[in-house]
Amino acid sequence: MNLELTEEQRLLQKTVREFAESEVKPLAKELDETGRFPRDTFKKAAELGLTGVAFPEAEGGAGFDHIAYSIVIEEISRCCASTGVILSVQNSLYCDPIHRFGTEEQKKKFLLPFARGEKIGCYALTEPQAGSNAAALQTKAVKKRDKYVINGTKAWITNGGAADAGIVYVNTEPAKGEKGITALVVEKGTPGFKVGKEEKKLGINATACCELVFTDCEVPSSNRIGNEGEGYKIALSTLDGGRIGSRSFKPSSSCSPTCPRKSTPRACSSARPPGNKTPERASAWTPLSPNCSPAKWLRGSLTKPFKSTAATATAANTRSSAPIATRASRKSTKAPAKSSAWSFPPGF
Ligand SMILES: Cc1cc2nc3c(=O)[nH]c(=O)nc-3n(C[C@H](O)[C@H](O)[C@H](O)COP(=O)(O)OP(=O)(O)OC[C@H]3O[C@@H](n4cnc5c(N)ncnc54)[C@H](O)[C@@H]3O)c2cc1C
Repeated sequence: MNLELTEEQRLLQKTVREFAESEVKPLAKELDETGRFPRDTFKKAAELGLTGVAFPEAEGGAGFDHIAYSIVIEEISRCCASTGVILSVQNSLYCDPIHRFGTEEQKKKFLLPFARGEKIGCYALTEPQAGSNAAALQTKAVKKRDKYVINGTKAWITNGGAADAGIVYVNTEPAKGEKGITALVVEKGTPGFKVGKEEKKLGINATACCELVFTDCEVPSSNRIGNEGEGYKIALSTLDGGRIGSRSFKPSSSCSPTCPRKSTPRACSSARPPGNKTPERASAWTPLSPNCSPAKWLRGSLTKPFKSTAATATAANTRSSAPIATRASRKSTKAPAKSSAWSFPPGF
């Protein structure tokens, strides 16, 4: 088994690391202390293609594979756990089930702008009384003609307070238990839907992790992902993909000075004297030219054989309309997703 990253994966890793060092890390401590959701960083990450890493270009994604996705989450989380979790939820928990189960119409509306990072998504399965045992969820949706009327409360929903839409798992036929669970997309601003209290946590504080409350909230039946009763299968298979992201997290510099989990002083900005910058920090990420976005550069450079950063940068500067690489066009060595000691609670 070859555990080495390919050259293109190393280039991706270097680029994302530079972005994370220059754009993400400087904010990590403040974000963790204030709980401010990093919208600007999210937008910048979107310009690099990091909000839809492993989805096809036609669906708004960057067209990479899941090893690339793991590298992205690992590099971002290395500098800020909150930003890593936000991107992981956007990629794995919101975009992925729509990519796998959505219709073409749904993909246009509920995937494309999200994979592009123009909008933020969330995944709403957990309830105050239904965590590990998600099949016990009590949020109900009753079908009325061409609409579903939702009542119930979701808890611990990452991105929930900032999201433009969420996939909400509801029970449309409670007598059937888990076979009665259905997935519905609910958009921000839908009457009857409101963001509830923000969850209190010991760290990863900037993820807008909130309760979501539904009171006679009506959504069109065209917002249903998959068939009625397929929601549990969609939810659990989504968590399988979500584990790629959550196992790519590293303890990060977002630890506040008082955080008991500050286990990696090397990565913790608060443990480093002011002005003591890492070598990576010195070569901070910058867009290469006004005509070439970092995303185009990153994607475009991966379509060419890797020689050196300088060579690919030059190529990208003269080739701003370079075709975006597809998964099939890039040969990748099968290296396993990296894991870390830290992980989310069961079920996440
Ligand atoms: C930071 C954070 C972000 C989250 N983001 C999201 C999100 O975006 N969307 C979402 O839907 N949910 C989210 N969650 C919720 C998460 O999925 C749940 O916390 C998880 O499913 C566990 O549920 P619980 O907290 O109710 O714990 P419980 O289910 O009450 O479990 C508590 C403990 O009991 C153990 N346990 C439970 N059942 C059994 C059993 N049958 N046998 C043996 N041991 C058992 C568990 O392993 C655990 O150690 C998030 C949670 C956190 C902390």
